[in-house]
Amino acid sequence: MGTKKYVYYFGDGKADGTGKMKELLGGKGAGLAEMTNLKISVPPGFTISTEACLEYYRRKKTYPPGMWDQAMNALKRVERSMGARFGDPANPLLVSVRSGARASMPGMMDTVLNVGLNEQTVKGLAAKTHNERFAQDSYRRFVTMYSSIVLGIERDRFEELLKRKKAERRVSHDTDLDAKTLQELVVQFKALVKHETVRDFPEDPLEQLKMAINAVFASWYGKRAIEYRRIYSIPETWGTAVNVVAMVFGNMGETSGTGVAFTRDPASGNPIFFGECLMNAQGEDVVAGIRTPLPVNTLAKTLPHAYKELDATYRKLERHYRDMLDLEFTIQEGRLYMLQTRVGKRTGIAAVRIATDMVKEGVISKEEALRRIGPDQLAQYLYPIFDSKEEDKHQPLGKGLPAGPGAAAGKIALTPDHAVEMKARGERVVLVRQETSPDDIHGMNASLGFLTARGGMTSHAAVVARQMGKVCVAGCEAVEVEGATSVKIGGRSLKEGEFLSINGSTGNVYAGDIPVVESEVIQVIQGKLEPSQSDKYRRFAMVLSWADDVRRLRVRANADIPEQAKIARGFGAEGIGLCRTEHMFFAEDRVPIMQKMILASTPEERERYLTQLLPLQKQDFIGLYREMKGFPVTIRLLDPPLHEFLPKREDLMVEIARLELTGGDSAVIEERHRLLARVEELHEFNPMLGLRGCRLGITMPEITRMQTRAIIEAACEVAKEGKKIVPEIMIPLVGMLSEMKSQKDLIREVAEETMKQCGAKLSYLIGTMIELPRAAVTAKRIAEEAEFFSFGTNDLTQTTFGLSRDDAAKIVDYYKLHKILDTDPFAVLDREGVGALMRMAITEGRQTRPDLKLGICGEHGGEPSSVEFCHQLGLDYVSCSPYRVAIARLAAAQAALAEKDATAGKKPRTPAARSSRRTSRSRSRSW
Ligand code: ADP
Ligand code: MG
Ligand code: MG
Repeated sequence: MGTKKYVYYFGDGKADGTGKMKELLGGKGAGLAEMTNLKISVPPGFTISTEACLEYYRRKKTYPPGMWDQAMNALKRVERSMGARFGDPANPLLVSVRSGARASMPGMMDTVLNVGLNEQTVKGLAAKTHNERFAQDSYRRFVTMYSSIVLGIERDRFEELLKRKKAERRVSHDTDLDAKTLQELVVQFKALVKHETVRDFPEDPLEQLKMAINAVFASWYGKRAIEYRRIYSIPETWGTAVNVVAMVFGNMGETSGTGVAFTRDPASGNPIFFGECLMNAQGEDVVAGIRTPLPVNTLAKTLPHAYKELDATYRKLERHYRDMLDLEFTIQEGRLYMLQTRVGKRTGIAAVRIATDMVKEGVISKEEALRRIGPDQLAQYLYPIFDSKEEDKHQPLGKGLPAGPGAAAGKIALTPDHAVEMKARGERVVLVRQETSPDDIHGMNASLGFLTARGGMTSHAAVVARQMGKVCVAGCEAVEVEGATSVKIGGRSLKEGEFLSINGSTGNVYAGDIPVVESEVIQVIQGKLEPSQSDKYRRFAMVLSWADDVRRLRVRANADIPEQAKIARGFGAEGIGLCRTEHMFFAEDRVPIMQKMILASTPEERERYLTQLLPLQKQDFIGLYREMKGFPVTIRLLDPPLHEFLPKREDLMVEIARLELTGGDSAVIEERHRLLARVEELHEFNPMLGLRGCRLGITMPEITRMQTRAIIEAACEVAKEGKKIVPEIMIPLVGMLSEMKSQKDLIREVAEETMKQCGAKLSYLIGTMIELPRAAVTAKRIAEEAEFFSFGTNDLTQTTFGLSRDDAAKIVDYYKLHKILDTDPFAVLDREGVGALMRMAITEGRQTRPDLKLGICGEHGGEPSSVEFCHQLGLDYVSCSPYRVAIARLAAAQAALAEKDATAGKKPRTPAARSSRRTSRSRSRSW
């Protein structure tokens, strides 16, 4: 039996692999194969599969059988194609050894260029090309990269020597160093390696190749890669592929260069070809910001031939992939080579812009457009922007590239660690760096936005901003990082901790804390801006209307007051899924009455205060009903433990002591004592498992009576205005049928009585939340009385895991870090456990009552992968925060599309399905 295929060749217009084989070949390998098959100019090479990487680790870091032989065979084919031989002193072939995981991880993994150079081959390269300088330049680059990536010597040590050399020669750019100087540098570099490793720098090209491949495998377990996988929930089991590619050279002089490009603007989505290039440079020089790159269209003048080909190539590729792409290319003496392509990362704003444009261009269908926008990306349409009147009052200190749209104002942090500390203190942070690197990722996560001095639209900062949805101004030349504690911007010195404002849509940078206002979309919803004046709003609304055409789940909002209900309607909510009545009692004018009600020692006294609350509560409901204009409104009866309305025990004790010592009014002191006694009486060891939910209404029926009366009276009143309203009265924390029945009987009685008094007849529903395992398990019985179920998945998660939701964060973080949990079950619904209880409750509840209405009102109702699951469970609706309604609408549409794909036999590939493996708010695809 032959061995397994681990190596996939590509070259001369034919590849073993295809663009669809990302899992096996990684994103980069799949892209190279696809471009080769499209007859695009790509240097030949081969990809060692992710399977080989996984096998390598399974076999304690030895290659799986056959892998090396296959690699050597593929290398022979590359040699034939290039007409050069690896290690041949007279005619050497050089290769790059490149990492490439399934999802690209910006700069997290390593690439070594110019592998195959040694004292012999460097001479051959010089002779063959008649370019001694180029050969030595490649050599010094190779020794630097190999030493840092394979041998683990800090790259800075080499950069330091290079810097010193430049100073010695009084030149500012690496391109100004001549062949002899570069050769001297190589000697110095090698001496450094010898000193550090007590070994000579490896001369054997095959050893170099092998070690470089091992280093790429090893980078999968590098510290940066591990941290990145943690943030983006990328499974460790994916592994990385290794691409070995014949070198083409951008460092052969001024007709050579290297560049990166996007087929459309990745920040705004504008349909313009967009890129940057650097002449006489190699690979990472463009993104590393060693010299400021030129806009790619300058090539049209300097190298018209190569530019024309680049232009044709990008069009061909975009047509083929039918999506915005990011590209890497190199020009060697006027000839263009493509080195990478993939679907480009984009901001949420750009995602919507590109998808709606491509529908208009007839390139993709509306459904395809819906699939391409990550629901969480829509949140970027809601991010605040600077108040333009305020912004106009400020003079910009400088201007950089608008790399991540939006506005960020916060205190300057100059290191990622400081950013994390400042964020932990509750401060708004803007990270300012010379340039960011993958090691900064934690600090970037903690910041609202980043400002960098160097680097372009494809720099690390820009790429990360697009994917994290952060504000970013990149390559702002006015920025000079002075030292550890201050930065100079446009000549003005600012200390760490001082306020800075950056506009990621224009690139402007200001000193001070410029106030922000709502985004255009929110302004339209609030009626402050005409829809016709906002292109952003129109596209946002267009995508959502397409979503409405395909989704089956209804989307409601959790709203407690009329203003929230109004916003919810603006975002397209089709009702209120949860009105938490207790929120209405926290208002300043109500808490004292509420406290008196709680303090009451007899039911009669309690009723007296409840009577005072009744008209207030009724007005709240009238407001909600009016806003919802006939859509259903679910009102939950009082739920939280009562002590939440009372002052803290410790605070009261301090106050009493103070009053007594300062001779306070004795009546006041006595009243405080009574309050303290009641607080102590109400004290519970586990209030979340104590006197709350329906237990309140059962032990104090006056409360349920008052609330029912308010709900029904309000509905009667609104009905008289001609609006039909069907209130849904929801009983919280039911665990037993008898609880449900006891409350329902009471509600019925009061409701009938109230309607009689109002002289009206209207329909209403009485249902329950399912938030205790016992409720789920006995759903068949509970449905005998309950007319609807609403899954309160916050509590249901808490009670299913037996994990307090108020204390969970620390435990969950630890569990995630140690791989005991993949995701936070309070953020992403736990399908296996909580989901099983839901499924049981749904099936059995519907057995008893086929028309049982089903919804979810936990925080999960606005989280895309949980929404998908709710769709699969067959719920009628999800209910979420007003600001997440749009996200839920899109997620619900994607769930419906995924189902359609699955029944059509296709593999579901919605962003929602993908994001279930990721943290919310961020999307990741490629760099
Ligand atoms: P990353 O995943 O960080 O982009 P790459 O493997 O794409 O890393 O390579 C880093 C840089 O080196 C890129 O600019 C790429 O275009 C360049 N490069 C890689 N292989 C070659 C090659 N064979 N010839 C010329 N340049 C190359
Ligand atoms: Mg690359
Ligand atoms: Mg609850």
